[in-house]
Amino acid sequence: MKLLRILSIGLFALVFLLVLAFYYRTPLFLLAASLQGAPEFIEKSDIELGENEAWVDDYFTVEQIDSQTYAISEARYALDTYFYLLIGTERALLIDSGSPHRDLTPIVRSLTNIPVTVIATHLHFDHVGNHNRFDGVLMPDIVDFRARAAQNKFSPTRHEYMGFIEGFERPQWDVVQWWTPGEMLDLGGRKVKFIHTPGHTPDSIFVWDEESKRAYMGDHGGDGKIYAFLPNSSLNDYLESTARIVETLPSESLFYAGHGGEHTRGTPVTDMQKLIELRDGFSDLRDDKLTSDGFWPRSYPISEDTMILTDWRGPGGKSWDFP
Ligand SMILES: [Zn+2]
Repeated sequence: MKLLRILSIGLFALVFLLVLAFYYRTPLFLLAASLQGAPEFIEKSDIELGENEAWVDDYFTVEQIDSQTYAISEARYALDTYFYLLIGTERALLIDSGSPHRDLTPIVRSLTNIPVTVIATHLHFDHVGNHNRFDGVLMPDIVDFRARAAQNKFSPTRHEYMGFIEGFERPQWDVVQWWTPGEMLDLGGRKVKFIHTPGHTPDSIFVWDEESKRAYMGDHGGDGKIYAFLPNSSLNDYLESTARIVETLPSESLFYAGHGGEHTRGTPVTDMQKLIELRDGFSDLRDDKLTSDGFWPRSYPISEDTMILTDWRGPGGKSWDFP
């Protein structure tokens, strides 16, 4: 009798723990990731640069895209982050500022001496790491950002920033300018606008340079893993934003991503076909036409080199909000 009682209590406790683990799977996954701490930098000798990339110090690389546009990367960082410097005659715009591991200012200052405003494609720590080191932070006037910025001081939330994974404290910065959707930002001789593209996060944007037909899209797309399982990711939004980009931007557009794919080097740029593939991937995912591998997050290959990572389907799978 006593044994039966112990067994039933044990079983109850096990079921309780499994339910808890299920409910808190995303924080548990992030906690497990944070226990590993920041990754070691990759040895320079193990890195093969893209054809047009060059080392500018022992950490960063630069590739010139055109006479006034550069791609900069943290080649030795495991996340292989890329950010883009668009130089006008009056001001320069830095799209994403990398991880907080290294000071990016000497590299940017070696490329231009006009004022540099920085904007992030979204607030993850590997995109805002140097925000405080430039002449001002520009923020898109979307979601609830402006309402949250008392006296124009802004700080991302824990899950917007996610820097705890590598042991970084949440930063705070002064917003010097709010950028309205649809508004052209004049850099002097070149104008850009942004397009709100929620999916990877609710605040994700593309910066669009109409004249050169280039879009800077952060983590929205590209080769490798598409992160659609994070605390604020939304599959609905991902599909809607990608379909809108495919429908509204010219077919010859080029899309610059925030990370290189695994085992590839060189600036991560893709064409419209890749965005169409992504839209179709999300649409097939919604219609249950894809098969996944991996336990959690689920990994759904949509081409030879690209897979969408998602939460589970069904009750509690919170990024599954399709009707
Ligand atoms: Zn991200």
